[in-house]
Amino acid sequence: MQDLTSFRQETREWLEENCPASMRKGMLEKDVCSGGRQFEFQSEDQKLWLDRMVARGWTAPTWPEEYGGGGLSKDQAKVLREEMARITARSPLQGMGTWMIGPAILKFGSEAMKQQHLPPIVRGEIRWCQGYSEPNAGSDLAGLQARAEDHGDHFIVNGQKSWTSNADKSDWMFCLVRTDWEVKKQAGISLVLFDMETEGVSTRPVRLISGASQFCDTFLENVRVEKDQVVGDVNNGWTIAKYLLTHEREMIGGIGGAAGVKSLGEEAVAAVGLDDGRLVDEVLRAEVAEWEVDFRCHQLTTERVRDEIAASGVGNTSAMIKYYGTELNMRRFELLLGIQGADALKWDDGSEAQRWLRSKGNSIEGGTSEIQLNVISKRILGLG
Ligand SMILES: Cc1cc2nc3c(=O)[nH]c(=O)nc-3n(C[C@H](O)[C@H](O)[C@H](O)COP(=O)(O)OP(=O)(O)OC[C@H]3O[C@@H](n4cnc5c(N)ncnc54)[C@H](O)[C@@H]3O)c2cc1C
Repeated sequence: MQDLTSFRQETREWLEENCPASMRKGMLEKDVCSGGRQFEFQSEDQKLWLDRMVARGWTAPTWPEEYGGGGLSKDQAKVLREEMARITARSPLQGMGTWMIGPAILKFGSEAMKQQHLPPIVRGEIRWCQGYSEPNAGSDLAGLQARAEDHGDHFIVNGQKSWTSNADKSDWMFCLVRTDWEVKKQAGISLVLFDMETEGVSTRPVRLISGASQFCDTFLENVRVEKDQVVGDVNNGWTIAKYLLTHEREMIGGIGGAAGVKSLGEEAVAAVGLDDGRLVDEVLRAEVAEWEVDFRCHQLTTERVRDEIAASGVGNTSAMIKYYGTELNMRRFELLLGIQGADALKWDDGSEAQRWLRSKGNSIEGGTSEIQLNVISKRILGLG
């Protein structure tokens, strides 16, 4: 306890001294530092904040120091999160590197793979994308058809990936491919890594209802992948893919990370005003209060589930977090649009209307809500 108390004090002081004022403001999707070769910093402060956090290993606080991480315990990492939230410090770096493929490499990768990939992820030098879904393999992910043929020291990969978020802006892909056609479908899958600049990789952005073009179709034509870029063992990709998905689902479901963005209550006060310390509109008051209570419960449950996963290593409960967190986020945007009324009808970059439309994808990305409910009923409740 004493150690944690002094760690909190030291962390608080360090953050006060090192987090630039402009990095203590609300962060929308467009303000995110995703790093990578193509990333352009929005300001000197954004770069300074990243550099300072990288120097402490706090872009990946719990990863071992030898790979550039912070080497923090789970409890210390929680303190860091709390202290950052206290001053509404922005996350210095976000993306599939730290959230998804990094943890998978840490758990399943060879030492050489860890040395090669983890430090550039921590430093924000390489941005990753996820090549899971295909035109005929979304919910039925194990049915994927991208084909990797064995050529001795390397594979040759052919196939198509769909809905690849930010494929055109990413540097490397972690990609599920079929390496055995003769066995049960889950048993013939491998997880491979390749540079998006490899010959034969091309992307085509898909335009979305929100106006943005977040994801792409990705085409793989005779792409050479070295054997040392297979994560874990050949044909063991399904286990790793599922492990990685638990991190993705926990991340997608963990809403509330938008530091400093106004709460629903604050939005409602600004829109309709207060009477005797209470929101003027009674119906809205009840709806906002209900949402805030549900949100708080969700945050507490998320903390509990994180602790459970850290202790047991079993991640099925991330399906609960994903399901409920995305329901909450979509409800939040419905309410927000109601609160703002005609003011929400602006259509510029990052406007509420665009974010509301973007939230519609929450119940699909990372596995649909129906699939999460299946996981909850089978793996958590033991039904069927
Ligand atoms: C914003 C966003 C970002 C994404 N980013 C990526 C990415 O970076 N990389 C990537 O690989 N993929 C990505 N995806 C794809 C996503 O993982 C798939 O869209 C998702 O898994 C669903 O697959 P599908 O679209 O093929 O739908 P389908 O699997 O065809 O599902 C269609 C409908 O049938 C329902 N359904 C299917 N099977 C069952 C079942 N067994 N029980 C009950 N209902 C069922 C589904 O719930 C859904 O309503 C992204 C998707 C979105 C929306």
